[in-house]
Amino acid sequence: MRTFACARCDHLVFFENTACLSCGASLGFRWADRELVTLTDDLEEPRRCRNAKIGRCNALVEERDTLCFSCALTRTRPHDEDAEGLRLFAISEGAKRRLLFELGELELPIPDRTADPDGGLCFDLLASTVEPVMTGHADGVITLDLAEAVPTHREDVKAQMGESYRTLLGHFRHEVGHFFFPLLAQEGSEELDRSRALFGDDRLDYGDALDRHYEQGPPEDWPDRFVSAYATMHPYEDWAESFAHYLHIVDTVQTATVYGVRVAGPSPPRDVSAEPELLDFRPRIYRVSFRELLDDWIPLTYALNALNRSLGKDDLYPFVLTDPVIEKLEFIDELVHLASRGALAAET
Ligand SMILES: [Zn+2]
Ligand SMILES: [Zn+2]
Ligand SMILES: [Zn+2]
Repeated sequence: MRTFACARCDHLVFFENTACLSCGASLGFRWADRELVTLTDDLEEPRRCRNAKIGRCNALVEERDTLCFSCALTRTRPHDEDAEGLRLFAISEGAKRRLLFELGELELPIPDRTADPDGGLCFDLLASTVEPVMTGHADGVITLDLAEAVPTHREDVKAQMGESYRTLLGHFRHEVGHFFFPLLAQEGSEELDRSRALFGDDRLDYGDALDRHYEQGPPEDWPDRFVSAYATMHPYEDWAESFAHYLHIVDTVQTATVYGVRVAGPSPPRDVSAEPELLDFRPRIYRVSFRELLDDWIPLTYALNALNRSLGKDDLYPFVLTDPVIEKLEFIDELVHLASRGALAAET
C-alpha cells in the first residue's frame, strides 16, 4: 500500500480515510488513478460512492448515487434488514478494496462482468447465517462467507484446520488467484505447460483430491515443496496459495518501502546510497527481479516476527520459503509482469 498526503495541510493520510485527522479536510479515494484526493472546495458536497455508509466506502464517483469501481464488482450482498450481515459486509469490502488496489498497482487487467458476462470478475458476499455459503471461486464469481469477517470464527476454523494464517484479505487473494489462473496461463500456451511442470497437472480430478486431502492430510514433507498444507491438495490450490502469497509479499514490500523500512540484516549490509528513490515504488519493483525483491523481503520478515514477539504476539509471517516455493512465486511474478504489459503468449 502507498501512503498519501492531505493536499491542504500535507499531513500523512491513509487509504481508508474519509477526512484528514489533522485539519479535517474531506478526503475521497479515486479509483481512476488510485489516489486519495483532498476535497478543497468546502461548499460542494463530495460525490461519494453509493456504498459510502453501508460499505464504509470512501471512494468518489463521477455521477451521484452510483457505485465506485470496487463496490460495483460486488454482485450480491446481505439484505437491507440483515444488520449483522451488513456489518460484516462493510468489513469485507474493506479487505476487497485493498485487494483491488494491489491488482491495480500490478497493472493486472480486471475484466468487468457487465462488459464480459462470462469472463468478468464479480463478488458474492453472503451471510451463512441466512443460507449455506461456501467460500470459493467459480467462473469469475468469488463467493465469500461473511462469517470470515468474525475474528473468533476465523480463529476457530484456523485452529481446527491446523492453519498458521487465515485472514479476510488472504481469502480474497487466494480466490482471485483462481480467477487469474486461466488468464495468466491460457489454454494451449507455453505458460500453461510451465505452470503444469511447476504446480502439477490442473486436470487432476478435484473431487478425488479433496477426499484424499481430508482423509489423509498433507504429505509429511509438504513444507519442503509447498507454501502451505492446503496447497498440497490440488495443483489449482497450490497455484492459488502461491498467488495469494505473491500478493502478500508484493503489498508488504511496497508498504515497507514507502515507510522507508528496510532491514539490512542478517544478510551483509549493502551500499544503500546506490539504491533507487525509496518512494518511487512502482518503477523500483519493475526494475528489480523477484529474487532481489526477496533479498529485501526475507530480512524484513525476520524483523516483523521479532517485533511481534516483543509485543507478545504470534509471528506476523508464519511461513518458510523453500527453493521450490520460491521458484513458483518467481514464475507467478513473471506472468504478472507479462500480463501487465499485455505480453502474454497468445494461444498456439
Ligand atoms: Zn489535512
Ligand atoms: Zn464504493
Ligand atoms: Zn482455492
